[in-house]
Formats: sequence, C-alpha cells, structure tokens
Amino acid sequence: MTPAPSILLVEDDEDDYVLARGLLSEIFGPSLKLDWVETWDAGLEALRKGTHDICLADFRLGDRNGLELVREAATLGCTVPIILLTGQDNREIDLAAVKAGATDYLVKGEITAPLLDRAIRYAIERKKVEMQLVRFAQYDSLTGLANRSLFHTRLGDAIAHAKRTKQLVAVLLLDLDHFKNVNDSLGHPVGDMLLTQVSERLTACARETDTVARLGGDEFAVIATNITHGDGAAALARKLIDALAAPFTLNGQEVFTATSMGITLFPLDDKEPDQLLKNADMALYQAKAEGRGRYRFYDVKMNARAQARKTLEFEMRRALERHEFCLHFQPKINTFTGDLTGVEALIRWQHPERGMVLPGEFIPVAETTGLIVPLGDWVLHTACAQSVAWQKMGLPPVPVAVNVSAIQFKGTDFIDTVTRAIDESGIDPACLELELTESTVMDETEVMTELLHRLRDLRLNVAIDDFGTGCSSFLRLKELPVNKLKIDLSFVRNVTDDPANAAITKTIITLAKNLNLGVIAEGVETAEQFAFLLQHECQEVQGYYISRPLSGDQFTVWYGERLQNLAREG
Ligand code: C2E
Ligand code: MG
Ligand code: MG
Repeated sequence: MTPAPSILLVEDDEDDYVLARGLLSEIFGPSLKLDWVETWDAGLEALRKGTHDICLADFRLGDRNGLELVREAATLGCTVPIILLTGQDNREIDLAAVKAGATDYLVKGEITAPLLDRAIRYAIERKKVEMQLVRFAQYDSLTGLANRSLFHTRLGDAIAHAKRTKQLVAVLLLDLDHFKNVNDSLGHPVGDMLLTQVSERLTACARETDTVARLGGDEFAVIATNITHGDGAAALARKLIDALAAPFTLNGQEVFTATSMGITLFPLDDKEPDQLLKNADMALYQAKAEGRGRYRFYDVKMNARAQARKTLEFEMRRALERHEFCLHFQPKINTFTGDLTGVEALIRWQHPERGMVLPGEFIPVAETTGLIVPLGDWVLHTACAQSVAWQKMGLPPVPVAVNVSAIQFKGTDFIDTVTRAIDESGIDPACLELELTESTVMDETEVMTELLHRLRDLRLNVAIDDFGTGCSSFLRLKELPVNKLKIDLSFVRNVTDDPANAAITKTIITLAKNLNLGVIAEGVETAEQFAFLLQHECQEVQGYYISRPLSGDQFTVWYGERLQNLAREG
C-alpha cells in the first residue's frame, strides 16, 4: 500500500474541520497525517514550505478567499496540488478555481469518503503528470539542464531580483570548440556523452543559485547572480574553462575539448534580457576570434564591429549579384628555369565607393555567414574559365591555383562543384590546383581524408597553403593525398636575416623532398630571398619579386613579354 499522503487543511470553521477530519480518518485510518491551519496567511506560509502532498482549502477564509490563495501560492512557485472546498452557494467558481491553478474543487455537503479519497489520489497523480510536462517543456532531456525557455524565465527572475538588491547578473555564454569533430569522428552517442559530462562539470562549478542551461547543440549558458563586481564573473569563467579543459573519458577513450566564452553584465551592459544574450554572443564571437579557450567581456565596440560586419555581409550579397568581384592572378615560376608554372587566383572586390577591397577584409565575414560557398563557386568557375581562355588565345597552358576555405571544402557538395567547374570550362584537371590551408587538411577525420582522395581521383592537384603556421602531424602528412607544400610568406619574409625562419624554410624544403612533394615559397620580394631559395633548391617561387597579382588582361601582356624575353635569351 502507498503511504498515506500528508494533508494540509486550510479551514477557518472548526465545525467544518471536525467534519473533514472525520471523513479523512475514514479513508486513511490511523495513518492519517493531517495539519490544520485556520487562516489564509498560515495556509500560504505552509504552502510556501511545500512539505505537504496535498492541500484542502476552504473557499471562504476570513476576508480573503481560496482562489486568491491558489493564485498567490502559484506565484511563489508552490507545487502542492490544492483542492478547493466550496459551499453550495458558490458552485460557479469551479471554472475560475481550475483556471487559477487549483487541481479540483468539491462542494461541501456533497463530499463522501470515497469521493474525497478519489479526489485526493487523483489530484496528486495529476499534479505529478503536470510537473513532468513542465519538466519536458523547461529542461533539456539529454542533460537535464534548463533549456532555452527556462533560461529566459530565470534570466528575467535574476534581473528582477538584482534590481531590488542592487547587484549584478552575469550571463556567460559558451560553446565547445570542435564539438562537430567529436560528433563526426566518434559518432553521436559519444557526442551525447560529452555533452552530458560537460553539463555535469558546469553544474559542479556553478553555485546552487546560478542557472546552468543548454541553449541547443553545444551551446551552454550560465546565469550567475549575487555578483557585486565583474571580477566575480571572470573568476567563474576561468573556473568553467579550466574544468572543461581536463580530458573527458568517453567509451574508454580520452577526448579533449576546449571552450570559448562571452560574458555580459546586467545592468552595466544592458537591461534587456534579449540584448544581454546578444551581447554575450558578440563577446563569444570575439573570444573565439582571438583564439580558443578564452573568455571575453562584452564591450560597446563589439556592437559597432557587429554592425560593420552586418553592413559588409549585406554589401557582399549585393556585390555578388552586381558582379563587383573579380580575380587577379599572381604568376608562379620554376626557380631553376624561370618558366611559368601557373598562376594563383586571388579574389578582389571592386567596391563602388571604397575602391578595391582585399580578401583579408571580407573572406572571414564570408566564412562566418556562409557566403563563402557561392563566392567560392564563382571563383572556381571563373578561374577555370580564364585558364581555358588563355589557352584558346594561343598561350601555353596556364595552370591555375584556387584558394579554398575550410567551410567551403567541408560543405556538402564541394566535389560536385569542382566537377561542374571542370566540365563546364573544359579545363584539363591537371591544370587545376586547389590551395587548402594546413588546418583544413590536418583535421583528422575520415571525411577529410575521403574528400582528399576523391580530389585525387579527379586528377587535380592539392597544395597545402600557409604551410608551417598550423600544427601538422607529420605522420598524417605522409598519408595524405596532397601534391605540394606552400611555405608561408611569414617565413620567407625574414629568411635572409632571421636564422630561425631560415631554418624553418630549409626544413620544409627538405621535408617536401623526403615526402616526394612539390614545394613553393610565397611572398618572395627580394633578389636575396630568391637566391636563398634557389640555393636551397625550393622548386617554385611566387611573390612581388616575380610579379604582383595582375588582372587577366595585365597577365596576358606580362606573359607575352616574358615568353618573348625567354625566347630571345634562350
Ligand atoms: P594566400 O593564399 O596565402 O595568398 C597570398 C597572399 O600574399 C595574397 O594576398 C598575395 O597578394 C600576397 N602576396 C603575394 N606575393 C607577395 C609578396 O611578395 N609580399 C607580400 N607581402 N604579399 C604577397 P591577398 O590577395 O590579399 O590574399 C590574402 C588571402 O586571402 C590569401 O592568402 C587567401 O588565403 C585568401 N584568398 C584570396 N583569394 C581567395 C579566394 O578566392 N578564396 C578564398 N577562400 N580565399 C582567398
Ligand atoms: Mg593561397
Ligand atoms: Mg599563403
């Protein structure tokens, strides 16, 4: 048998109390647990403590009534089911009672023991189900943390409380770096395990009064209250970041993840919950941009930057439609013979007001907004078409190298795009080279390796751009189907006066040789740098020393003259 529920009776009439106790004794016998309070205030106080399983409340309580009691209890977050006991004369309150949050109502004088018994059990059961539904609606089913909806409620509550106590509320927003990698390479069940363990660590670091929420995916938020100074929030941020930096054991495997975090403070940064969340998001964005595993406080300048980013994004969409982008081509030559080995296509934006805008300014925005995909498609098609056009003009083949950003490369139909560009232009795939950055290629997932193999099957070439700036695993490098390493210009720049850069450059050349890969130095500006590269047998060079990036027409002229000169010399 289930234990008898503990019952709270709020009844200001002693005769009615005796009556009710009689019925309840009939139902529960000696195990009856009944607390009787006589006033509205005492009733509310008892409900607030929430120690009873069920409350029976008289409708008429002095100069206040049971409906008000139900409403007031609900605003205090009371979850005890309440059955209202009404007189014959106020039957009409039934609907109002249920609307106010009462679980049931019974008309005094019609109550029998079986009826009351059933009403009590039913009310308790119904409340349980109701609470369960509330849980579903407010908590994340995977981690048990507050969900976005409850997060908003809690933030509103925290702000209201902080207004009264003149304290601060900190909103900390975080997401896991490279969570997608874990999901892709180890599978979703392992990804779920990671999220669960992350939520446990976050909860362990936060205080009882803080709210830890999962806003979706790998995005989490913490609302910290009772803060008097930004330092408090910074300390919490550090603690959370450190907690997540320790390795996770998932299915017996050690997995590392890191997190970046954005913080904003009420009321210093803003007073509106929605705006606070936006602030935290901007700060998070900034934190990530500065390198992973850091936190950043929101500051107004970020808002200006976000605004500028929005404008840029809008202008870029328009620019695509209005054909304001164009390609420039920078020659690459064979170091030993001086023959042209190809050109690198570099995108330019002919902005109607600002003039020529360089990719460093808009490519990162295109990457975060997804615009890089249509933009990258355009580059690929245009570059292939240009190479074919040169050949049709009677020039020797001009292989073309195209920069591909990681987001574009990992996009769903990159291989299709490449295939289409080759088919539509009629370019010989051997004349197409894709430049992928080191971090894109070193992403150790099956998907990545598979993609690279499919490119090789298409017979085109792959170079690793900005080589030396990422952290290559040499083991992986050996296995990857790539053709060429491109030494980053930061090493080349000081190659003649910085021994460290000279050593790195020489090492990369040797490495390429040992791995049977081609090697090219970019950013060659002086005769000294060129001589160094020639001496150490770097096969290919590119840089202002040979030529600046040229428009298509300029290149035609440049190449024509060069061919004549070589013919005259040779
Ligand atoms: P990157 O692929 O490493 O390109 C080399 C950059 O160095 C180019 O800058 C080029 O103009 C510059 N450069 C070439 N020779 C010299 C030199 O002798 N001295 C110096 N100081 N610089 C030299 P640019 O055109 O501004 O491009 C910057 C970056 O933007 C590129 O770096 C590439 O990562 C990206 N990018 C350019 N075009 C595209 C594109 O079509 N798609 C994508 N995804 N990225 C692109
Ligand atoms: Mg490049
Ligand atoms: Mg580069």
